[in-house]
This record gives sequence, structure tokens and C-alpha cells, in this order.
Amino acid sequence: MTITLGDKKFKYKKDIKQFVSDNIENWAHGKIDKKHLDFNFMYELFYRHPELERKLYGSDIEYFHVVSKRNKQLAYKCFNGSRDTFSWKCCISQKSPSHLAMVKMAMRNSVDFQIAEYRNINNTICVDCSNNLLFCDVDHKKPFIELFNDFFEEYEVDIPDLKISTKRNLDEIKTTNFDLEDEYTKSFYDEWTKYHYVNAILQYLCKNCHKNKTKKE
Ligand SMILES: [Zn+2]
Repeated sequence: MTITLGDKKFKYKKDIKQFVSDNIENWAHGKIDKKHLDFNFMYELFYRHPELERKLYGSDIEYFHVVSKRNKQLAYKCFNGSRDTFSWKCCISQKSPSHLAMVKMAMRNSVDFQIAEYRNINNTICVDCSNNLLFCDVDHKKPFIELFNDFFEEYEVDIPDLKISTKRNLDEIKTTNFDLEDEYTKSFYDEWTKYHYVNAILQYLCKNCHKNKTKKE
């Protein structure tokens, strides 16, 4: 029952998940192309994607890269120039992302600007170990998933009615966001971003402390 991906062997799917999580940081240093040690792992992982054919754009992978360390978002470029993100979690589970998973991703993406703002106005001192570092992660003191659940407890939302748009951003990468031209979705987006602004307690954690916290969560 072992799962082999490139030169790596995994006993359980959760071990693959752990391996990807642990390596996002290293992979963020550059392209993962054929010369990269983990290319074969990544390639074979990608080939498990439930919508592989659609994701290949009639081409094949030139390289993979990390677009967001915080959201652990991976992307790729094809030889024909097509670029896209992909859900490595779907590659592990081999199930298509549910609408709810897309909504969660869009909710994370829609508050990215608040997190970027926080980064700009605060000193980067880790709240756990007091190390003052240039590059700390911005962490949700109350885990994001709790904030998410609290929001849905307070507000009546018809999740199936929320419209998702996967437009390309300036880097030609498809991002999962809300379709703000849809009136209902726009009102939801406004409430959520306001809610996040008021209720999210952001703090700095150094890489190590952040890793430990995420493991506990
Ligand atoms: Zn720390």
C-alpha cells in the first residue's frame, strides 16, 4: 500500500501532506524544474490531480513554484506558457475541491491585503520567543478556521450561492477569489472582510514557532 512519488515512499496520505508542508519553505527559494531534487516527486504528485487533463492545457510541466508560503499554494508553468495554481491536497486525496473548499480559499485570499498591511506597520518580533527577525510570518492568534466558523455562526450565508471566480492575476496565475460582480457574493465579501478586520488578531511568529503552532493546531 506504499505510495511512491519520485524517489520518495510514503506509508499514508497524511505523510505526503506533512512532507509538502515541511518543504514549502525550501521550495520557495526558486523554480522546481527538472534539475531540482524534488522535481520528480512534484511531477508525480501533480499527475494524481483529479482533473489532470484540463490542468495540462495540452502541454506538459516546465517547472513548479511556490506562490504563497502562507497559504501553501503551489503553481506551475507549462512549456506552452500556460500558468496555473493547483491544489496539492487534491492530488493527495485525488478528490476535486468542493465548493466549500473553494469558498475557504477565496476567504483567505480576500483578506490577504489586511495581512500585507499588518506586515508593513509592525516590528517583526516573534511573540513566542521574542526573537527580532527580518522575516517573521504573520499568524492568526485565533486560528483562521475558528474565525471562519465563528463568522458562519453569526451570519446566515447560503454558501452554494457564493460565486467563485478564478481569474488570472498580474503574474498570469489563476487565483481563487469571489466574483464581486455578483451582488450576493459582493455583500458577503464586504461583511467577511470587515469581520476579519475587526476580529482577527494578527501577530508575528518566527518560522520555528509558527511551525510548532501549526503542528499543534
Ligand atoms: Zn519564535
